[in-house]
Amino acid sequence: MTAIRRTVFWLRGDLRVDDNPALHAASGGEGDRCTAIFLLDDPFWSRHHWGPARRGMALRAVAAMRTRLAEAGIDLRVLEPSGASIPDVLAAACAALDATEVHAGREFGVDEARRDESVATRLGDEGVELHLHRDQTILPVEEIRSGGGTPYTVFTPFKRKWLAMLDETGMPEPIDPPAAATGSIERVRPVPHEIVLDDLLGDLPPSDFDAGEAEPHRRLDAFLDGPVLRYHEDRDPPSLDGTSSLSPWLACGSISPRRMLAKLAGRFGDDSASWTEGPSTWLSELIWREFYRHVMDGIPRLSMDRPLHGWTDRVRWRDDDAGFEAWCEGRTGIAIVDAGMRQLAETGWMHNRVRMITATFLAKHLLVDWRRGERFFMNQLVDGDFPSNNGGWQWAASTGTDAAPYFRIFNPDRQAERFDPEATYIRRWVPEYDGPGSLEPIVDLKAARVRAIETFKAAKNG
Ligand SMILES: Cc1cc2nc3c(=O)[nH]c(=O)nc-3n(C[C@H](O)[C@H](O)[C@H](O)COP(=O)(O)OP(=O)(O)OC[C@H]3O[C@@H](n4cnc5c(N)ncnc54)[C@H](O)[C@@H]3O)c2cc1C
Repeated sequence: MTAIRRTVFWLRGDLRVDDNPALHAASGGEGDRCTAIFLLDDPFWSRHHWGPARRGMALRAVAAMRTRLAEAGIDLRVLEPSGASIPDVLAAACAALDATEVHAGREFGVDEARRDESVATRLGDEGVELHLHRDQTILPVEEIRSGGGTPYTVFTPFKRKWLAMLDETGMPEPIDPPAAATGSIERVRPVPHEIVLDDLLGDLPPSDFDAGEAEPHRRLDAFLDGPVLRYHEDRDPPSLDGTSSLSPWLACGSISPRRMLAKLAGRFGDDSASWTEGPSTWLSELIWREFYRHVMDGIPRLSMDRPLHGWTDRVRWRDDDAGFEAWCEGRTGIAIVDAGMRQLAETGWMHNRVRMITATFLAKHLLVDWRRGERFFMNQLVDGDFPSNNGGWQWAASTGTDAAPYFRIFNPDRQAERFDPEATYIRRWVPEYDGPGSLEPIVDLKAARVRAIETFKAAKNG
């Protein structure tokens, strides 16, 4: 008789049953007894500036997963450490469940890596193994290196290498969800630190985002049915629904990027080089997401509030609290900036083009430290994702991976003329806007541009 394998599936940034390598490894064998554990690690979320929208999305996704896991015969326990250390909480859970293996999806970031190292050591002391599975990216981006053996810091050569790797490995083959269980869920002894998930759900703010796995699959299918073909043209005007709007689900792992690419290839064929401009451009965006994870993994200081380019640490940012507040509240008098910031406040989401414009305005025209903007975004966004947010902010502030020099600065009014020529988006969010000149800007764009260039130049020259 084979011994029963008792495992723990520790769910974190991979809140799905579809294409989940950690879940698959934890529950793959016949007769396995797998228990899923979610840790409500509030201090960790606070340290990473997760706001109510992002926390709510994650907790609702956990609730949706509970149902899917139950169908597969897997019991989900939610634990709240309340002052105890994560390694101790997990060690106690494994002892209560007689589990000898813990499986989890690998996460990016220094804090995450340190936490996992201490968990591995603590569990190891108890004879329990921690297995981390590649989860958040399509390809093993941590293995991609330039000719000199260093991580890439510019997107285009990274993308070339990434596509060559995809050519070699072939299109991903996502793992199907676990089969439905026949027996009932085994509830063994209580697990220390367990709390009732439903008690948390009642306190969440209302949300327009339908958490769980069904919605992102529905959105993806609808996007692939047509909009993807025009993506290269429609992705920039913020008044159009030209993008997939999948980021809130991707950020909490309710859909895997491998599944997204496999479905894309299912429509357009396995040879991505033969795709038309729409699907190719969309693939490029998925590669940007992989790129920012690659950079964060290869350059740990990015996780520690530091810029990619060391010289930009010398930029003399302005302590402009009034300007920062006006920016946060969408009352800078620059119409497109105010529209974006109000969209963010109201919906928890902002169009990519407008994220670039609002971030540039804060870091360049107001010369406010980009880290303040990064934290504010993280706190507001429903799709807050540390590598993409940090990457986007450092790109906009010229402290990171933007290949263009610091003195090429977006003019927000010109951007609005180009991408929102009828001011459709602006009028939607800024009802008092009544054409050019109708708002009172808090800063003169021309003078602010010169000030930014001078300040950056002084920093660069030491
Ligand atoms: C200052 C700034 C901050 C940002 N913060 C975040 C963040 O916290 N979370 C987040 O998911 N994205 C962030 N982005 C990237 C981008 O704005 C969003 O991913 C995109 O707007 C999501 O919309 P979508 O799902 O319709 O994207 P689509 O255009 O349909 O693209 C599909 C997916 O590709 C990825 N993607 C697209 N553009 C980018 C990009 N520029 N960088 C990285 N990944 C990309 C996203 O996962 C997106 O869901 C930020 C960009 C900037 C400039």
